[in-house]
Amino acid sequence: MTVFDDAIPAVANLDPGLLKALRQAATAAADDGVEFYVNSGWRSPEYQEELLREAVFRYGSDEEAARWVATATTSPHVSGDAVDIGKSDATEWLSEHGAEYGLCQIYENEPWHYELRADAIDRRCPRMYADPTQDPRMQQ
Ligand SMILES: [Zn+2]
Repeated sequence: MTVFDDAIPAVANLDPGLLKALRQAATAAADDGVEFYVNSGWRSPEYQEELLREAVFRYGSDEEAARWVATATTSPHVSGDAVDIGKSDATEWLSEHGAEYGLCQIYENEPWHYELRADAIDRRCPRMYADPTQDPRMQQ
């Protein structure tokens, strides 16, 4: 799906500010011949719990799974504040130009995961966390 797919809840339920920034960035990227794909956007709490269960199974422990998948109460995907963008040309474009739109990579281990940081437009994106376990928002 793309950031323009209004009929898809994963896109339509994103925070309006984030969605607006994504659409502006995607329009500019298209001029450079780059298309954004939304691999994951808004997620229901139930879907997030399913992803977490799968991650615990795959990684073998809650601790290791937490490096990759948040809980339904802490995930910025569930609140509509995060998108996972592909493909690699799109994430490369965003790492170069995203801050101009307030779009920032948050975790070093997730080059596809972007959130809105409106302050970045005037400054730069905040320093990345190594992975979600370093993010104070995950300590709930
Ligand atoms: Zn993500």
